[in-house]
Amino acid sequence: MKRDTSAALWREANRILVGGVNSPVRAFKAVGGEPFFAASGSGPRIRDVDGNDYIDYVLSWGPLVMGHAHPRVVEAVTAAMRLGSSFGISTEAEIRLAQRVMRHFPAIEKLRFVNSGTEAVMSAIRLARGFTGADLVVKVAGCYHGHMDGLLVRAGSGLTTLGQPDSQGVPQAYTRCTLVVPYNDLDAVREVFTAYGDDIACLIVEPVAGNMGVVLPEPGYLEGLRELTRSADALLIFDEVMTGFRAAMGGAQARYNVTPDLTVLGKVIGGGLPVGGYGGSAEIMDRLAPLGPVYQAGTLSGNPLAMAAGLATLDALEQPGVFERIENTMTALAQGLGDIARSAGIPVYQTQAGSMACLFFNEQPVRNYEHATASDTQRYAAFFRGMLERGVYFAPSQFEACFMSAAHTPAEIDQTLEAARHAFQALA
Ligand SMILES: *Cc1c(COP(=O)(O)O)cnc(C)c1O
Repeated sequence: MKRDTSAALWREANRILVGGVNSPVRAFKAVGGEPFFAASGSGPRIRDVDGNDYIDYVLSWGPLVMGHAHPRVVEAVTAAMRLGSSFGISTEAEIRLAQRVMRHFPAIEKLRFVNSGTEAVMSAIRLARGFTGADLVVKVAGCYHGHMDGLLVRAGSGLTTLGQPDSQGVPQAYTRCTLVVPYNDLDAVREVFTAYGDDIACLIVEPVAGNMGVVLPEPGYLEGLRELTRSADALLIFDEVMTGFRAAMGGAQARYNVTPDLTVLGKVIGGGLPVGGYGGSAEIMDRLAPLGPVYQAGTLSGNPLAMAAGLATLDALEQPGVFERIENTMTALAQGLGDIARSAGIPVYQTQAGSMACLFFNEQPVRNYEHATASDTQRYAAFFRGMLERGVYFAPSQFEACFMSAAHTPAEIDQTLEAARHAFQALA
């Protein structure tokens, strides 16, 4: 596969963009080799600047649930652009997208749009603190909530010691407001609530974890979090930036039938444009400015192009049978990859929730971050490179999800599995 143009751009990019990228994972550090530069995308495929095509299972890290450049999305965004790209005052599309989201998330009575998942998480946590009058946040190890200071944190020396910064530049004063517990561990949550109960504003969790690979909640886990937060008068925040419209149309809260106090959204609801959102009961949400004392604002929040892209995406995704078809396509791919790996003698552990899935190069079940990080990342890297050479783009890290779109057909799955047969043979 020739990648001369990508290679030249990569050299140029490295001179003027930090590490050649604007978001670290794009640099392929975890898998080695040089990243390609995208030129265009259509349906399930990306074409790079050298004219190579890749079947895409990254899908811009989740948003493109209808595939690249879906005609309805292109049309909606183009039409919105003609009318003006931003007004800094309300447009009808903001109401329409909010209604559309709420149709699937009945726990959201009121919603606020922002411009990224990070911003939505940051704002939801400020709101939780404002609402409860408490400062501490309980975070679950291995869950990613964007790059806000107080959540770039690793566990302290014991469960009930406060967190340590996981990035330089994060003040200890911020991470001292964060407690870290392992995923799928209710005893740990009980312990921190016993130690700090009244001072805890909220517990934030990815109800299906998607940023340590895909790790599923064990039966009773989400229900347990619901009970423990409620009895401590702390808010339960589900970060459904990834799982919203993927774990199920109504996110993991619909799939597992557990209702959080606040829901954070992003990715799919922006249809590939920058959007985040957070919502919950009117009682909590009305604490936000301009109604309440918790401040949060945004020049481009509720941007008409982003609202149009989100609405068109949800319109298409809501058509009868579409979600189920995407989920079934994901199941076919996951089962196929698992069968091929096993017949090549390569141990894998697989997880799936709706249109997201993960193939852990791990002999053991993966239930938390510690298990996930015990996976064979070298082998994943070799698998990644083998697939990329054969025209299939999986996430450039073991600790990311594989995403499916409505544009992927059995032909793409067959082509992917054929590539996987060769890639796994080369690994065995
Ligand atoms: C992607 C992601 C975020 C961050 O969203 P950005 O738009 O990248 O800021 C937050 N939480 C979860 C669960 C995510 O997957």
